[in-house]
Amino acid sequence: MRIDTKCIQSGYTPKNGEARILPIYQSTTFKYESTEQMGRLFDLEEDGYFYTRLANPTNDAVAAKIADLEGGVAGMLTSSGQSACFYSIFNICEAGDHFVCSTSIYGGTYNLFSVTMKKLGIDVTFVDPDAPAEEIAAAFRPNTKALFGETIANPALVVLDIEKFAKVAHDHGVPLIVDNTFATPINCRPIEWGADIVVHSTTKYMDGHATSVGGAIVDSGNFDWEAHADKFPGLTTPDESYHGVVYTERFGKAAYITKATATLMRDLGSIPSPHNSFLLNLGLETLALRMRKHCENAQKVAEFLSKNDKVSWVSFSGLEGDKYHDLAKKYMPNGSCGVISFGVKGGRESAVKFMDSLKLAAIVTHVADARTSVLHPASHTHRQMNDEELKAAGVTPDLIRFSVGIEDADDIIEDIENALRAAQ
Ligand SMILES: *Cc1c(COP(=O)(O)O)cnc(C)c1O
Repeated sequence: MRIDTKCIQSGYTPKNGEARILPIYQSTTFKYESTEQMGRLFDLEEDGYFYTRLANPTNDAVAAKIADLEGGVAGMLTSSGQSACFYSIFNICEAGDHFVCSTSIYGGTYNLFSVTMKKLGIDVTFVDPDAPAEEIAAAFRPNTKALFGETIANPALVVLDIEKFAKVAHDHGVPLIVDNTFATPINCRPIEWGADIVVHSTTKYMDGHATSVGGAIVDSGNFDWEAHADKFPGLTTPDESYHGVVYTERFGKAAYITKATATLMRDLGSIPSPHNSFLLNLGLETLALRMRKHCENAQKVAEFLSKNDKVSWVSFSGLEGDKYHDLAKKYMPNGSCGVISFGVKGGRESAVKFMDSLKLAAIVTHVADARTSVLHPASHTHRQMNDEELKAAGVTPDLIRFSVGIEDADDIIEDIENALRAAQ
């Protein structure tokens, strides 16, 4: 199936007489005929449902669709993008371990990695994603277990050179984990470029209608954990909490994602509600359609902004001459995403005035939604960062993150034009 077809058809195939639309299994638990049957499920000897914290048919169908869209072997849904990012690292790192991460990432992930995970004894080194491979390699230590980056960084819009990152990771015997939230699998499939694990905040384009916070992890099945067994004992040695199962032996290509479900979901429990997964699935059905319109509209808005004399700079990889134009063309030939960042002449003060003068575009924390929305990262999402950290994350004080929706592009442009005039 091609990607537009997968958006509609993947994940759920009803049998004779079953519901055409993915049912919402709003049930915490599942019934069995015998003690023995249920026991086998607890030992991971048989597939089946017993408790929604570990698995639920609605959640699984949507996870399978996302895995298929990304070209992975299996996926798992989480209750938020934050938990997906956390689990993706925590599944292979423990106290005393270390990982390397691009500086250009979402502010929430930055806090998670640099503050909260440090408290768990997991250390991170941030690297400039545009640095040469040797410089990124220099951040690796003997206890480094992963490399992490974002396809298109939120909100800096830095495009990741996925092949460069994959090579550095693989040269050091560790997986590359890519947050593909902004590009979505419609525009970029990081696994095809060497990423081993893909994570998402499904809250954004995948849901697309601002109804449900959620996340996903997709396992490519490509990373050879056994070839680096000493680095990943959690996957390659017996897990006493499951009667000594060895994930790589029992689950092969799905070792990583099975361990994430069987241990992290079991113990930490960040599951989405089946009802949210149902809504996410509706969003996924139109993802390909919507992404095309987001990209088309964003291109028009970016071109308008780049020609406007009240705008000091525009960052959008679809623009000729943008710093990331060539990388975006390589990894996302059909368009990147609908998010543009730009600065208004007059700095922080004019930026705030501009935002307050918009009528159609709404000031919300949210981004990547069907509705046009706008945010000032320095006073909102990134306000915990000091000036130096802001700079490293590619966020200037005048940066406006403008998320172009799927309304008529001319209405969006008129709204911007009026607000720019009012901000002077
Ligand atoms: C929003 C976002 C997250 C966090 O996701 P939530 O669903 O808000 O928890 C992670 N990564 C990126 C790139 C995001 O945009």
